[in-house]
Amino acid sequence: MHRLSRLLLALTTACIGMGAMAQDKVLNLYSARHYPTDEALYSDFTKATGIRIQRVDADDAGILARLRAEGAASPADVILLVDAARLWRAESEGLFLPVKSKLLDGAIPAHLRAKPDATGASAWFGLSTRARVVVYDKLKWAKTDVDAYEKLADPKLKGQLCIRSGSHPYNLSLFGAMTEHLGEAKTEAWLKGMVENMARSPKGGDTDQIKAVASGECGVAVTNTYYLARLMRSTQAADRAVVEKIGVVFPNQSSWGTHVNIAGGAVARNAKHVESAVQFLEYLASPAAQNHFANGNNEWPVAKGVSFDNPALKAMSGGAFKSEILPISAVGQNQVKVQQMLDRVGFK
Ligand code: FE
Repeated sequence: MHRLSRLLLALTTACIGMGAMAQDKVLNLYSARHYPTDEALYSDFTKATGIRIQRVDADDAGILARLRAEGAASPADVILLVDAARLWRAESEGLFLPVKSKLLDGAIPAHLRAKPDATGASAWFGLSTRARVVVYDKLKWAKTDVDAYEKLADPKLKGQLCIRSGSHPYNLSLFGAMTEHLGEAKTEAWLKGMVENMARSPKGGDTDQIKAVASGECGVAVTNTYYLARLMRSTQAADRAVVEKIGVVFPNQSSWGTHVNIAGGAVARNAKHVESAVQFLEYLASPAAQNHFANGNNEWPVAKGVSFDNPALKAMSGGAFKSEILPISAVGQNQVKVQQMLDRVGFK
């Protein structure tokens, strides 16, 4: 070969090599986290590592459907979901690549990550938690009227309850947990009681339920804590006026504890950038990112020893609260049963 050709070939090879390296600096993220404050979380990761994040946004069900359809050709590297049962479901369908990370295992309590397989690898990791609490019209009701989930079915609350669709993952997981605590028959009776107590047919998201309590349309509602914290910390006077009118209760403090759900992450089964994917999950478990979950999106951090300062979370919980501890797999397995119960009692 001519010397110049050889030089050109060497140069071309080097360029292709560099191109591949540059391409490796990309991470394909499928995210169900629908929170605008997360932008800072992603840009900080890119700043620190040079890895650019390409994001696909969809809800939990949409992401799972997409992963199934794409199969081995899926470009997804990291998956973020916002419901424990969906994480479990994706794991059981083999959509995740189990990961062994000393850092993640050390930072995240065992009950907030997937059960390790024979090699000690976990399929997903909880990154933050949110509690499902009850809010009530302070003028009409007292805390003791609604301080347990069971009380939402009490006939004295007839025409008072506002709640989003029963089939939404946040409710399916709450009801799946209730099935563990109460058994099937009592849970179905409870769901029926709630349907009878509804102020209106389920519609809207959690924030809509909170606002409907403030407007007087309903007396009692169910919401995830971060929606409430968002209103508490809002710069809009109207939002804070909503908060003024309502009381908050963390249910079941004197029994099994308040239902808590997980938002978590996993590496996709067919990830092309596994190393970067693990690096991203480890970053999300770092004190800086954990603080962001708490301060940016009003979630509770999961990493051990992370201190955070969020006045809204402190104000609503009184600093600390008792949360239920249940095997996530049980909550996940109950979901088909729960959906059937919802259909039978007419819970939309
Ligand atoms: Fe949400």
